[in-house]
Amino acid sequence: MLSNLAVRDVETLVHPYTNLATFREQGPLVIERGEGIYVYDTAGKPYIEGLAGLWCTSLGFANAELVEAAREQMAKLPFSQIFAGRSHDPAIALGEKLKEIAPAAISKVFFCSSGSEANDTQVKLVWYMNNALGRPAKKKIISRIKAYHGVTIASASLTGLTANHADFDLPIANILHTACPHHYRFAEAGESEEAFATRLAAELEEMILREGPETVAAFIAEPVMGAGGVIVPPRTYFPKIQAVLERYDVMMIADEVICGFGRLGTLFGSTALDIRPDSISVAKALSSAYLPIGAVMIPERMYQAMLDESRKIGTFGHGYTYSGHPVAAAVALKTLEIYERDDIVGHAARVAVPFQRRLKALAEHPLIGEARGMGLVGALEIVADKASKAPYPTAKGVGARCTALALEEGLIVRNLGDSVALCPPLIITEAQVDDMFDRLTRALDGTR
Ligand code: PLP
Repeated sequence: MLSNLAVRDVETLVHPYTNLATFREQGPLVIERGEGIYVYDTAGKPYIEGLAGLWCTSLGFANAELVEAAREQMAKLPFSQIFAGRSHDPAIALGEKLKEIAPAAISKVFFCSSGSEANDTQVKLVWYMNNALGRPAKKKIISRIKAYHGVTIASASLTGLTANHADFDLPIANILHTACPHHYRFAEAGESEEAFATRLAAELEEMILREGPETVAAFIAEPVMGAGGVIVPPRTYFPKIQAVLERYDVMMIADEVICGFGRLGTLFGSTALDIRPDSISVAKALSSAYLPIGAVMIPERMYQAMLDESRKIGTFGHGYTYSGHPVAAAVALKTLEIYERDDIVGHAARVAVPFQRRLKALAEHPLIGEARGMGLVGALEIVADKASKAPYPTAKGVGARCTALALEEGLIVRNLGDSVALCPPLIITEAQVDDMFDRLTRALDGTR
């Protein structure tokens, strides 16, 4: 029996990322408020937010300092653009802070409101730069199967998941997908992680040579893939990939939208996985998701090309009304201040030890084929047969059943197919980690 709010919802909204058919019968879980790592539904039932919203509410809910930062800025200057000769202090200060902490030599920062917009901007900047540099053929961007980079037309094209392409007529031209570095699923029989990484780098090189290096501009990657199933690459994967990219003057774009700001126990995921990015996308935990904000961190070579082009043609014709929104920027600045002052990244690294221990222990569970993760993110892949790694028939929806049971236990997790993903707020304590895994284990035990 749907509540009054749920009925109004079903009559009114199209929900993102939802099975529109089953949703009509089930209706939504309506969340009313949050505090710390918990959210509460309209009946007052608490849930551990085991996915930090959508991998983003790193400081948890009801953080009074973030609320106050928003209130103060809202009262002072709720909006002013940074278009065409205008600026304001929150955008300038946030840009400076991002340059200071970036995991690469960054020249300038471009603001937007989401991860999708950041990656869309990346595509446009790569194309713009190569036109400016007089190499208009160098336009192809290589992404990876199972990557998630967003849903706008260019970022959805970078995404390597069927549901984001099918019937949307995507991907667009000039976007290619190379192999996914998931050893458990895609390694050949007996292939070591090292050999798997070597093979994937060789496959990337073959792709670049087949396409012609003069046509390949950039490679984009999440340090640890998120929505594709929380896929941690072999340790030597990125150094091998990076060596190939350098041989053919192909830019490395790090999509730090999930991994940025402490998720892997380091300030940026690139550091944890030996990535040397040229350009970087961030969003989500940049403001602990209290307000929408994203950014592209731009290297000097790209900026110089943009500047030269602007000298020739005038206006750099890209930007959003909400680029550098003052309230979002003020909240992001306060978020970064709290990360630093409270050593949130150090805390995440420490709590990651029991988190990973509890996660990996579930590899012994009869339903689990692989327990994988890094830092404070992980996934459990449910299989029908552990030896052959055979999945359950898709129609059985075993991952969805497990997350539904977790909900009954007061735990919000997300199933990505038959993998169950965990990505709690970074402020989670060790005792709360235990509580979370106790609830999840009960849910798994009940899953048939
Ligand atoms: N990039 C990554 C790695 C993501 O995980 C996401 C969202 O989950 C995006 C980009 C897109 O961000 P948004 O949903 O804010 O557009």
